[in-house]
Amino acid sequence: MINRQHLIDRFVSYVTVDTESDPESNTTPSTAKQWDLANALAEELKAIGLEDVSIDKNAYIMATLPSNVEHDVPTIGFISHFDTSPDFTGANVKPQFVENYDGKDIVLNKDQNIILSPDYFEDLLLYKGQTLITTDGTTLLGADDKAGITEIVTAMEYLVQHPELKHGKIRVGFTPDEEIGRGAHKFDVEKFGAEWAYTMDGSEIGELEYENFNAAGAVVTVEGKIVHPGYAKGKMVNSMYIATEFINSLPRLETPEHTEGYEGFFHLTDINGEVDSTVLKYIIRDHDKSHFEARKDMMQKLTDELNMQYGRQVVSVEIKDQYFNMKEKVEPVMHIVDIAEEAMKQIGITPNIKAIRGGTDGSQLSYMGLPCPNIFAGGHNFHGRYEYVPVESMIKATEVICKIAELTAKQ
Ligand SMILES: [Zn+2]
Repeated sequence: MINRQHLIDRFVSYVTVDTESDPESNTTPSTAKQWDLANALAEELKAIGLEDVSIDKNAYIMATLPSNVEHDVPTIGFISHFDTSPDFTGANVKPQFVENYDGKDIVLNKDQNIILSPDYFEDLLLYKGQTLITTDGTTLLGADDKAGITEIVTAMEYLVQHPELKHGKIRVGFTPDEEIGRGAHKFDVEKFGAEWAYTMDGSEIGELEYENFNAAGAVVTVEGKIVHPGYAKGKMVNSMYIATEFINSLPRLETPEHTEGYEGFFHLTDINGEVDSTVLKYIIRDHDKSHFEARKDMMQKLTDELNMQYGRQVVSVEIKDQYFNMKEKVEPVMHIVDIAEEAMKQIGITPNIKAIRGGTDGSQLSYMGLPCPNIFAGGHNFHGRYEYVPVESMIKATEVICKIAELTAKQ
């Protein structure tokens, strides 16, 4: 049995260290404070008895649990990220505990009247009777992805302490900067040396994912002409109006708030405008490769049309691919998904295989030669004050890791 209190204490020790990443920074890790937890994690991995513990100059951590069987078993890996999202503050996280959850509203913060309610977050009702860890309403929790780290460390510790459980060589990898899309890019796949791996970075218990978005970012720049408003007739070009035309010409219902499942979208993330110039930032997402390409074409065509209409180059667009759907890399080795599915079934979890509406470290790693499906870590409502994680889900995720190790070693 996994030691419940030990797991809780471990999780709390991680989330109370601020590791928010910063997309504006060019260093790796993007924020120096990520070293605080990274260094502690490297020490902890040594302390629980893992071998070859390394932390490189970019704060990527790797470690090994050696095989305890004679026969050949493929080396597998488990990966999580220790940074938290810059969308919401991760400083001074004060986890709160709701024991034996009764299915009612949870007051996160009495002074500020911040309520976590099943009326709005129905998923809460899945966890009646369980222990929830929440925020105090003023920060995110950081279960994304410190729940994943907790589960991996706890599973490795359990396997070290239970040599009767047979497994092959297991590699552990912890990365910085996943939340800013840079968790994988300096990951040394060759040094990691696993045949495949799993990121423990999903949400609800049972989640198992090997499809994700194809992703690109677009920066649209609109050039206007500034003239004194009193003398502007026929001369002024207000870039903000042209930018508005651009925005309104994209399909209004193909946005995150109107889509689900396999539906892709354009997401306007940022507007910065004045008369002279306006910059729009978009992200483009689609599971289907051809639809993804069509979305990028649509932006380019719209740009060309507006330029034609104004008789000069008023709009320019720069589109950069960010990551691709890992399905292409995982489908040829589907047994790695099957093992995870079987592991869940064997410990009484109903697997919920679905497409990620986002990316993970694993999607990039898959394209770097390390096929890497994603498994639930247990948390909900990531990147904000309503984030929470049921302790029972973290325990189950820990058991899934141990079971995958065991099934992989079965001849
Ligand atoms: Zn995450």
